[in-house]
Amino acid sequence: MDVSELIACPDCDCLQRRVSLPLGGAAHCGRCDAVLYRSCRNGLQHTLAYAVAGLFLFLIANIYPIAGIDMQGHRQAASLYDAVSVLWQEGHAEVAVLVGLTTIVSPSIQIGLVLFLLVPLHFNYLIQGAVPVLRILEAVRPWSMMEVFFLGVLVSLFKLEQLAQVEIGIALWAFAAMVPILIVGGMTFDPDEVWAKVRALS
Ligand SMILES: [Zn+2]
Ligand SMILES: [Zn+2]
Repeated sequence: MDVSELIACPDCDCLQRRVSLPLGGAAHCGRCDAVLYRSCRNGLQHTLAYAVAGLFLFLIANIYPIAGIDMQGHRQAASLYDAVSVLWQEGHAEVAVLVGLTTIVSPSIQIGLVLFLLVPLHFNYLIQGAVPVLRILEAVRPWSMMEVFFLGVLVSLFKLEQLAQVEIGIALWAFAAMVPILIVGGMTFDPDEVWAKVRALS
């Protein structure tokens, strides 16, 4: 049995299996009747709001410099892309690929898929490809790698700091704000609610 399907009662610690709830419904403990969890009626709108905020911050994080570097009197602004290409040119191809995948490719795919699925659903329109996209989002648990790659960005800046004078750029703050917003957004994502909406529209 999948352990993630189990939930412990907050009152009596009784372990039980999660079930799908109707919208706005609540699950009660089989032993003491305490409320275990509820299905949020507007979860989809919440996830959508977080995804839009995440997209906005992601664009800032990619357009603006992540750090300004003073090297022998020359001041240079480095974007995320610059950081990746410098890593590549300096012969750290594996690190460049890892940083590029986690900070640029993965967030854009994840935010993109969520918006692709939820924006039309919000307007009660079921687009082609909604079902496979929902299956992917259900399987990968959106945004689970965020903490890891934010740590990666901090570590590489710390390394740079030892080589040159580094000034933190606006993109780093945007990135730092994006991470918790996308994590919380991922927690509001309720596949059961989205499935119910997809079924109602098809
Ligand atoms: Zn209980
Ligand atoms: Zn809510």
